[in-house]
Amino acid sequence: MFTDGRSKRVIFLAHCLLNQNAISDGTAEVPAAHREILRAILDAQVGVVQLPCPELCGLGLDRGDPRGAERPVVVENTRIRRAMEQPEAAARLQELTDQVVWQIREYRKHGFAVLGIVGVDRSPCCGVDTTSDQDRELPGRGVFMAALQTALEEAELTVPVIGVKPSSPDALAKVRALLGE
Ligand code: SF4
Repeated sequence: MFTDGRSKRVIFLAHCLLNQNAISDGTAEVPAAHREILRAILDAQVGVVQLPCPELCGLGLDRGDPRGAERPVVVENTRIRRAMEQPEAAARLQELTDQVVWQIREYRKHGFAVLGIVGVDRSPCCGVDTTSDQDRELPGRGVFMAALQTALEEAELTVPVIGVKPSSPDALAKVRALLGE
């Protein structure tokens, strides 16, 4: 089974690395996608699984405040974090993490290599090494990555998770390391 043309190697990327149109107002760095990261992954013949954007799914494209972009990013990020902790958004978050864990389990069950998960540092949802809270950037995980980590542990799945700031000089090297290059 699955002895066709596929590489049987996949990587999970934070939604906005592939689609900047989903990111919170005022924070898009490129028109569409972080092409260098994507190119490196595709050159390695690794399939890309786009994670859901938890903020878009939980709060909407404007994150529930059309004037959010008027605040400093970390202040707005802290507001978003609080909003994501409210019951309705938190329940949505749980649904999303369950779906991701289900997909990872399927790939693993069929012998695919799940090379890792790439989050976005400073994000209140997808940060891995740093996140936003208390109106500043702090070490720690965003609420989505924290929930995903818990769900993976409960499912007894071990997957490398890294965070990048996509436009920073070390982002590509971190992704390449995950690809085994
Ligand atoms: S970092 Fe996460 S929550 Fe923020 S825009 Fe990207 S995918 Fe959505």
